[in-house]
Amino acid sequence: MTSQQAAASPHPAGKPVSRLKTGAEFLASLRDGRRIYLGGRRLDTVFDEPGLAKGAELMAETFDDQFRPEFADATTFTDPATGELSSRAWQVPRSPAELTDRRKIIEYSSLKTGGTFGRPSDLAPGIVAGLMAYLPTFRKKKSMIEGCDPDFAANIEAYMEYGRQNNLTASESLAGPQTDRSNPKAAEAAFLRVKKVTKDGIYVSGAKTVGSIAAQANDIFFTNLGGLATTPPEACVWGAVPIAAEGITMISREMVSQPEASKFDHPVASMGEEADQFIVFDNVFVPKDRIFNLGDPDGMSWYGPVCVFAHWHVLTRLAVKSELFVGAGQMVLDVLGTGKIPAVQQMLGELVQYQQTLRAFVTAAEAKATYTEAGVLTPDVGMLTAGRLYSIQEYPRIIHILQELCGQGLVMRFGQSAFGNPDIGHYLNDLLPGHGVSAMQKEHLMNFIWDMTSGALAGRVALFENVNSSPAPRLRARLHDEVDRTKFVDQVKTLAGMDW
Ligand SMILES: Cc1cc2nc3c(=O)[nH]c(=O)nc-3n(C[C@H](O)[C@H](O)[C@H](O)COP(=O)(O)OP(=O)(O)OC[C@H]3O[C@@H](n4cnc5c(N)ncnc54)[C@H](O)[C@@H]3O)c2cc1C
Repeated sequence: MTSQQAAASPHPAGKPVSRLKTGAEFLASLRDGRRIYLGGRRLDTVFDEPGLAKGAELMAETFDDQFRPEFADATTFTDPATGELSSRAWQVPRSPAELTDRRKIIEYSSLKTGGTFGRPSDLAPGIVAGLMAYLPTFRKKKSMIEGCDPDFAANIEAYMEYGRQNNLTASESLAGPQTDRSNPKAAEAAFLRVKKVTKDGIYVSGAKTVGSIAAQANDIFFTNLGGLATTPPEACVWGAVPIAAEGITMISREMVSQPEASKFDHPVASMGEEADQFIVFDNVFVPKDRIFNLGDPDGMSWYGPVCVFAHWHVLTRLAVKSELFVGAGQMVLDVLGTGKIPAVQQMLGELVQYQQTLRAFVTAAEAKATYTEAGVLTPDVGMLTAGRLYSIQEYPRIIHILQELCGQGLVMRFGQSAFGNPDIGHYLNDLLPGHGVSAMQKEHLMNFIWDMTSGALAGRVALFENVNSSPAPRLRARLHDEVDRTKFVDQVKTLAGMDW
C-alpha cells in the first residue's frame, strides 16, 4: 500500500491522516508521457538524461525526508483545519509562529540543494498561498472573456487543497519568451493567449520561458508578465495544468551538472540540476476549475502582491546559501593556514557582512509582516525587495572573494582517480597537504567551492540569481513605486522648518 492509498483512511492509532508522498511515488509521478526535448532529441522520460534524472532523485530525497524524524518538523505540519499531516510547502501562514514555521522548509530545501535549486518543490505553493492571501479580491473578479465563467476564488482554494492533498510539485512560469523588446508586437506574438473558449474551459497557445524545474514537476502554474503596456484580454490568463497535458512541449536547455561524477570530485554538481525549459503550449486545454484569472487586465497587476511568498523564498534561500559561503570561506582559512593574515580576515569579514545582512532582511521582512484582506500574514515587500536587490548586487563580489580566498587550490584540482593512481597519487598526497589536513581533504573542500562558484553549474546559478525574479533595475523600480516616502519627506520638512 502506498502512502497516498494509506491517506484514504484515518490511521488506526488515531494519528493524523498523511498526505505525504514518498520519493518513489514522486519519481513514478514523472512517468506520465510528458514531451521533453533536449539537444534535438526527444526523451522517453525525464530519466533518460542523467542531469535531469539525478536532479529528480535529489528532489525524491526531499519527499523521503518528510518521513524522517530529524526533518519532520521542517518539512511537514498538521493542518489545523483538517488535522491532516501535510507538506509545509502548502502551509498558508496566518500567525507569526506559522510564518516562522513555514520558513523552515525553505531553509531545509535550500540546504539540501546547496541553494542550486531555485524552484524546489516548496516554491510554487508560495504563489498559490499568495493568491489565497487576496481571495476577497479574486472573489469579486469575473471572467471578461465570454463563454467561460470560472469562479476564481473557489478555484484558488481548490487548487491549494489539491496541491496539499497530492504533495504536488509545480513549476511556475510567469516570464515570456525573449524577443525583440523594442517591438511590443514581437512580445505579443509569443504571449500565452486564449485561442478557443468553451463553457468547460479554454484552449491556450503560445509559450512560457525558463520554466525552471518544469521537466521534473507535476504541474505548470502560468501567467503572462509584462511585455505590453496593456495586456490584451485574451492574454490575461492565470492557470495551472499538468505538465504532461496534451499540447505541451518542453525544450530543455543544455545540461550543466556532472551527474556521473563522484561526490568527492563534484560534491554539488554530482547531485544533478533543476533544468530550465522553454515551454510551448499548442492548443492546451485548461479546465474551468484551474483558471484563476480570465481576461481581466487588473488581475495581471496582482503579480507583485501574489508573489510575496515566492520572493521571500528567494531571499531566504540566498541567506542560507550565504551561510554556506561563510562556512566554506572559514574552512579555506583553516586548511590553508591563512586565517592570521589581516587582509584575508577582511575578505572573510565581507562574506560575514553579506550573510548577516541577508539574515537581517529576512528577519525584518517577517517582523514587519502584515495581514492581508484574507487574514494571511505576508512578509514586508519593501524589506524583501531591498534584500533581494542587495543579495544580487553583491553576489558576483561574494563569489569573487570566495575564489580569491582559495588561490591556486580552486584550479589545481585533480580528482579522486588521480589521488588513487599508484604512479602519481603519492606525489599529490605528499606535496599538497594543507594546514592540519591531507591533500585529499583540502581538495575535497576546493571541489565543493568550485561547484558553488566556478563550474558550469555555478555559472547557471549565478545567472539565475541575477534575474530569476526580476533583474536589479526592475527591483529598484519596485522600491521606487512601492516604498512610501511621505514620512521621510515630512521629517525633512520638520527638521528644516519648511512649512510648505
Ligand atoms: C536561469 C533562469 C531561470 C529562470 N527561471 C524562471 C522561472 O522559473 N519562472 C519564471 O517565470 N521566470 C524565470 N526566469 C526568467 C526571469 O524572470 C527573467 O529572466 C527576468 O524577468 C528578466 O526578463 P528577461 O530575461 O526576459 O529580460 P529582457 O526583457 O529580455 O531584458 C534584458 C535585460 O534588459 C534590462 N531590462 C529590460 N527591461 C527592463 C525594464 N523594464 N526595466 C529595467 N531593466 C530592464 C534588464 O537588465 C534585463 O535583464 C529565469 C531566468 C533565468 C536566467
